[in-house]
This record gives sequence, structure tokens and C-alpha cells, in this order.
Amino acid sequence: MSDDKPKLERPIFETLTRLLDFIKPYRRRVSGVVFLMLITSSAQLLAPTLVRQAINRGMEQRDSSALMLYSGLFLGVTIVEVVGLRIQLFNMIWIGQNAIMSVREQLFHKYLDLDLAYYDRNRVGDLMARVTEDSNSLQNFITWAVVNTISNSFTLVGIIILMLVFDWSLALLTFTILPPMIVLTWWWRRQSAVRYRAVREAVGVVSATLQESLAGMRIVQAFVREFREQARFRDVTTNEITASLRADKLASIFLPGIDLISQIGIAIVIGVGGLRVLNGDLTTGTLVAFLMYLNMFFDPIRDLAMRLDQFQEAAAAGERILNVLDTQPSIVDRPDAVEMTRARGAVEMRNVTFRYESTGAGGNGSGQSGASDGAGDDVSEVGEPEDVLQDVDLVVEPEDVLQDVDLVVEPGQMVALVGHTGAGKSTLVRLLGRFYEPQVGQILLDGTDITTVTMQSLRDQMAWVPQDTGLFATTIRENLRYGRLDATDDEIEAAAKETGVHEFIAALPKGYDTDVEEGGSRLSTGQRQLISFTRALLADPVMIILDEATSSVDTVTELQMQAALGKLLRGRTSFVIAHRLSTIVRADQVVVMDHGRIIERGTHEDLLAAEGHYYHLYTTQLQGHLDE
Ligand code: ADP
Repeated sequence: MSDDKPKLERPIFETLTRLLDFIKPYRRRVSGVVFLMLITSSAQLLAPTLVRQAINRGMEQRDSSALMLYSGLFLGVTIVEVVGLRIQLFNMIWIGQNAIMSVREQLFHKYLDLDLAYYDRNRVGDLMARVTEDSNSLQNFITWAVVNTISNSFTLVGIIILMLVFDWSLALLTFTILPPMIVLTWWWRRQSAVRYRAVREAVGVVSATLQESLAGMRIVQAFVREFREQARFRDVTTNEITASLRADKLASIFLPGIDLISQIGIAIVIGVGGLRVLNGDLTTGTLVAFLMYLNMFFDPIRDLAMRLDQFQEAAAAGERILNVLDTQPSIVDRPDAVEMTRARGAVEMRNVTFRYESTGAGGNGSGQSGASDGAGDDVSEVGEPEDVLQDVDLVVEPEDVLQDVDLVVEPGQMVALVGHTGAGKSTLVRLLGRFYEPQVGQILLDGTDITTVTMQSLRDQMAWVPQDTGLFATTIRENLRYGRLDATDDEIEAAAKETGVHEFIAALPKGYDTDVEEGGSRLSTGQRQLISFTRALLADPVMIILDEATSSVDTVTELQMQAALGKLLRGRTSFVIAHRLSTIVRADQVVVMDHGRIIERGTHEDLLAAEGHYYHLYTTQLQGHLDE
């Protein structure tokens, strides 16, 4: 059994007390619910007693007023129970929803806080599961399991006591059905844990496969692999159905089994109790009450058996959520960090050496290992290029991605970073924004070590123009405003006019309110970059970090982009991961990188004249761009 339980890394008690913190703000409501629960359960327990009285006092003694009294009381008690349950249910749902809303908010807040290295280590799908699936199982747990478990236990104990009080020997006889019932329940729990786990895993594989196919649809269709994807999807859904059927088969044995045993119990009570009624040493009323209690007896047992699963699931989900909440970002403001005022834009990298943390399998610093259901582990066989890159990283020993980088950039200078893929260009600019921290060396902005200022004030100095992602699925206007949240519509238009994108936007049917489809796929690469330029311009930063699009654009757009680039970079320090010769030639410094080192630097002319690495790059690759 032990190996199919979710493995918990923290003591369960700690997890539970931490989770209880989430309902603490609603303590008064929780106490109210528990109080109501005691009332409804008591009402439930009282009902058979009233029936007993109605039979014994009313029917047996032919006393119609007693009969009226007890049936009236029975009705009253039932109304109390129904109304109580209704209020109880509503409040339980209310507490569950509110507690989970705060869990979700805290998770999201944490996600915003965590540094990029965390996102290198964890899959987006897993991180989403914390906010969706795990939060849901926690909510179910808070809403149903907690209160029901308390009320079921209360009812169960109440029934046992009342049965013993009414007739202890009949009660003891009835309890003989408990051992088979416990054995059946134990067997069911043991088996179902394994089978339901298989179901969850199969469901996980289905959604991972689906996600992968949808995300990679361009590749799927380009390679005409629809049939393969279809077959793969059929395989995984077939597996899911098989697993579900196996689990349901078990339930189809358990539930009727419990029913059978309880019917046997009822038969015993009717047979033995009935004989005693005939002998005159048991009243009919007590026998009927007994039968009613017996009927009520099995529901809490069955419910408790089922809840145990929810309990385990919630403990595992809760633990995964707490693991995220307890993760500390590795890059934080120093306690004595100061606000950086607007910089002039002098940048210096001194002797910077950097490597990414090992992302190797067991070396998961956040305690997330073992947290996924195992379904996610085989997700990235196909998928997006990033996935492939990440998988390569999993096996490669961490090595220095940047080595001994020294760089001095004057305010307003433009630096073009050139070099093969993987040379370390993107990494270098990420360090400037302190998204990662170098293991060795120092980075200075206006002579101030960037680790001594607050990250917000550091990043406020810069605007990023990513290659082609980076537009959100909203209107063009809102995408532009992301650069400066308080920009007015006029300012947005002014910026767009400056980068020359206004005409194009204005010509769209809905103008600035045109929705950029997810990922901006309706816009061309050039247009997307121009929108990104405008957004950056609106932010009016000291520094621009630009990852130039690699795909070629038509000559008109190219000219437009170069003009916009000129406007954007003027007077600002800029780092451009450059792919176009037209961009490189205007740089004040061309920095040629190879395997994490700066191997050459100078202006385009200097480097050409030197006939070194850059010259080679120019003659083999870059020149083509000029001919376009
Ligand atoms: P470039 O921008 O010049 O193409 P990068 O800076 O992206 O180069 O990459 C430099 C090296 O660092 C490559 O070997 C790449 O695989 C590795 N790398 C890039 N990003 C990460 C990351 N987030 N985690 C681990 N390794 C990475």
C-alpha cells in the first residue's frame, strides 16, 4: 500500500496546520458551520427516537394526541435538519471558494516574484496545475471533507450510543456485521488507491498529449503528421478509458457489497428483534427505531471510507502548493538596496563569469521533485523548440555560459552583439536586467553595482524588445500601454507616429482597438517588432535591450524598421542582439561573442579591416542581408 500513496515530504500535521491558516480569516463562519452541523446531526439522531415514541406511546396505547405530538415533532425536527443543512452547505461552499481564492492569489503573487531560474526548472503546465487542479482538490477538501468528516463521526458515535442504550444485546448483535464491512472497505481502499492513481496518470497523459499537439500544430501540419497525432491521441484516450473502467469495476463491487452486508444486518435485526417483539421483551417502536438507525449507520461509514482518498489527495495537493509558496526567489533586493534614480546609461561588466544552475533531474532546489503525477515527465518528446532546448540542457553538465566578460559602454552608445546561436548573447543581456546573477564579477550601471539597487528601479531603466513573442492577447492599444501604464491615448499615438507604425494601425478596421491574436500571429514579424519598438519608446527608458527578429522582411518594412530603430535608440544606451547588417553597421561597438567569450570588438569598419572572426562572419553570413 505504501508505494501507491502520494509521497509526502513534509509531516502531514505541518501541512494540515499550514492549510488551516487559509480558513483562519473565516473562523467565525467555520465555528457557525460546526455549530449548525451539531444541530443538524442531533436532529437527524432524534428522528428515529420520535418514531419510536409515536409507535410505543401513540399506536400501541391508542393515544391519538401522542401520535399527533410525535409526528408533529418529527416534522419539526426534519425541518430544522433541512434548513440547517441548507445554511451549512451554502457556508461551506462560501468558505471553500474564498479560501481557495486566496490560495490562488498567493500562488500567482509568488509566481510573479520568482526569478527566471525557477521557470527554467519547472514546466509551465505543472505551475498551472498548482493554481487549477491542486487548488480544486484543496477546495473540495475544505468544502466537503472537513465538515462532513466531523459530522459523520459525530453521527456515527451518536448512533452507536443510542443503539446500545435502547437495547444493548440487539446492538451488539448488529455490530457483528461491522468486521466484514471493515474488511471490504479496507480491500476497496487498497485496490482503488492504485487504480484511481492510474486513472489520474492516464488523464494527465491525455492532457499533456493534447497540449503538445495543439502547441506544435504548425509543426504537425507542416510535416503532415496528423495521422500520427490522431493515432497517438487515440492510444492515450484508450488507455484512459481502460484505466477508468478498471477503477469503476472496483466501485461496482464495493458499493453493492456494502449494500448487501447492510441488508444482512437489517435481516438480522428484523429476524431476531422481531422474535423478541413476539416474546414481548422488545417494543415495536424500539425495533423500528433500530432499523432506522441501522439505515443511517452505513452512510457515514461509506462516506468516511471515500473521504480518506480526498484527504490524501488534498494533503498531496496542499503540499505541492505549500512547496511553491515556500520557494524563495534566489534573486531579491538586498535589505539595504536603494532606489536608483534615472541613470545616464553607462554600463560596465567587470570580469563576469556565469553559468546556469544545473537543471538535472534530481537536483531540483525547490523541493518539487516527486510532486508531479509522473504524467508530465514524458511530455517534451516533440513540442516547441524551447522544449527541445531544455531537454538538451538536462543532460549537459553545467558549464560557463559567459567567461571573463569585460565590457565598457558609454551612455547613449549602441552595442551590437554578434555571434553564433548559443554564444551567450541573450544570457549577457539577461544579466544586465539582473534576471540571473553572475557567479563571478560585477555589473555596474552608472558606476553603481546593480545588486545594490532595487530590482524595480533597475528594471525601470530599461525596456526590452523581444524577438517576436511578447505581445499579449489584447488590443494593440493595451499592448502599447504596457510600456507605460499611465500613457494617454494621445501619447500612445504620438509614439506610434514616431516609429512610423501609426499609419498601419490606423488603417486596420478597428484601429488601435484591433485585437492582437494570441502570440500576435495575425501581424507580420515586422509589424510585431514595430509594435514592440513603440511600446519600448513609450516607456522612455535609459536603456534598450533589443533582440532583433531573425526572419527577413520585405525591403519597405526593413527600411521602416531601421528608421524606427534609429528613433528608438537615439540618446539611449542600447544592447542589440543583431542579425541584420544594416543594424550592425550603425553600432558604436560591435561585440563578437563565441562560446561565452568576447573574442572581438570594435566598429564594423575596424573589424572588417582586422579580417578576423567578424570578417569571416560577414563574408559567410551577414553580407547576404545586405543584398536583400
Ligand atoms: P545566444 O543568445 O547567443 O544564442 P544564449 O545566451 O541563449 O545564446 O545561450 C548560451 C548558452 O546558454 C547555450 O548553451 C544555451 O543552451 C544555454 N542556455 C540559455 N538559456 C538557458 C537557460 N535558461 N538555462 C540553461 N541554459 C541556458
